[in-house]
Amino acid sequence: MLLTISTTYVPATDLGYLLGKNPARVQTFDLAYGKAHVFYPEATSERCTAALALDIDPIGLVRGRRPGEAGTVADYVNDRPYVASSLLSVAIAQVYGSALGGKCRDRPELAQTAIPLCIELAVLPCHGGEALLRRLFEPLGYAVEAERLPLDPQFPEWGQSLYFHVRLCRTAKLSDVLSHLYVLIPVLDDEKHYWVGEDEVEKLIEKGEGWLETHPEKGTIALRYLKHRHGLARLALDRLIAEESTEIEASDEQAGAAEEAVERGLSLNEARMQAVAHVLAEAGATTVIDLGCGEGRLLRTLIRDKRYSKLSGVDVSPRVLDVAASRLRLSDMTDKQRERVALFQGALTYRDKRFSGYDAATLIEVIEHLDVERLPALVRVVFAFARPRTVVVTTPNVEYNHRFSSLPAGQLRHADHRFEWTRAEFAKWAEAVGKEHGYSVRLSGIGELDDALGPPTQLAVFALGRSEGQP
Ligand code: SAH
Repeated sequence: MLLTISTTYVPATDLGYLLGKNPARVQTFDLAYGKAHVFYPEATSERCTAALALDIDPIGLVRGRRPGEAGTVADYVNDRPYVASSLLSVAIAQVYGSALGGKCRDRPELAQTAIPLCIELAVLPCHGGEALLRRLFEPLGYAVEAERLPLDPQFPEWGQSLYFHVRLCRTAKLSDVLSHLYVLIPVLDDEKHYWVGEDEVEKLIEKGEGWLETHPEKGTIALRYLKHRHGLARLALDRLIAEESTEIEASDEQAGAAEEAVERGLSLNEARMQAVAHVLAEAGATTVIDLGCGEGRLLRTLIRDKRYSKLSGVDVSPRVLDVAASRLRLSDMTDKQRERVALFQGALTYRDKRFSGYDAATLIEVIEHLDVERLPALVRVVFAFARPRTVVVTTPNVEYNHRFSSLPAGQLRHADHRFEWTRAEFAKWAEAVGKEHGYSVRLSGIGELDDALGPPTQLAVFALGRSEGQP
């Protein structure tokens, strides 16, 4: 398997600095599944080409699997050693890691400069054919040349294969081109050599930053990259769009230029936070604990409002808490400001003293992340032990999913969603919880209302001790 990168930037041999690989030497790297060799078939000041040759050991691919997992001939005899696949993405990340990250010790400014680049992939499997290949790379500004390879040149009557020899040219930063390859090669191959879980969502978001959120094929890309795990794909797209929208918030001028889909994401997220902020203000809360605060979206909305004297966020994931801390700029706060805002790790299914003493608790798009059997534990923790005056719960309305064109019928919006409820199911749950714990319940919705399907997000506001119908 061969990937070449060429440039005509002068002096072209600066490509060696950008890749961090000396054009004068052949270098070999050990990978988990074989070896990667980097060498330069040409290196003049007018034109320089770096080649990455992957020498994959098909036995190594199978080794280390649990007994019973391996064993078919296809495990040993397959196309993996000869084609561009997720193994190549791994090699790019390992061998060209700094370049992929946009770093270059010797030519830092060049790493941030668009230069003429041509990529050649000797054999790229294209599930979806040349049409998809073009739909993936052309919107990113590449000139695409593709030559379909016959199954066997000796036997033309066997016809064509799904493999292409591909050339992609564009003037761009090297890190952008490597990111595109890193993501799109496995997408075209539509296969991954390893288990795909939530880590892959992170990788997709990291490598897709700056281009994936506006790519016309972002749905296909996310779905295939995440091995057709619809929920994970939805999660990735929501995250991308949400992250995009946070940036947009920061600069209003860009908002006008934002893509329609992004605006849709922005308005639903924003609408959710605004609706919850409104409910909290109406309830007269001044101290709020956001349970399952994630990256701190709600806290960011509330923190601007002086009425809140204490705002806390809890999440089970330290990673999202780190993001929340940086989005809330906790490290820039004075000690006094910091007294007002707290983030801590905790699990919502275990009784925890730290959850008590607030006027209101919010569970924004959280309950659907718990297995239905664990929900009673959360209900006890929140409604029996913490027992704030007001509890605000939002969750998707599964009926509305028909309106999400990229979401196949019957799929939930996130991989991590254990369930999504209809309006009737949510109402039944909320009313039972209210009744059991002495809270009144007010149900409503957030987002654009569909006459038949209802709103995209459902909202329940629980008020301690107040009976139905009272303000
Ligand atoms: N409320 C946030 C995040 C919603 S995503 C927002 O609206 O943006 C759901 C969050 O719940 C995730 O951050 C997840 O880590 C957290 N979560 C899921 N199960 C949890 C549990 N048992 N205890 C604490 N947090 C949990």
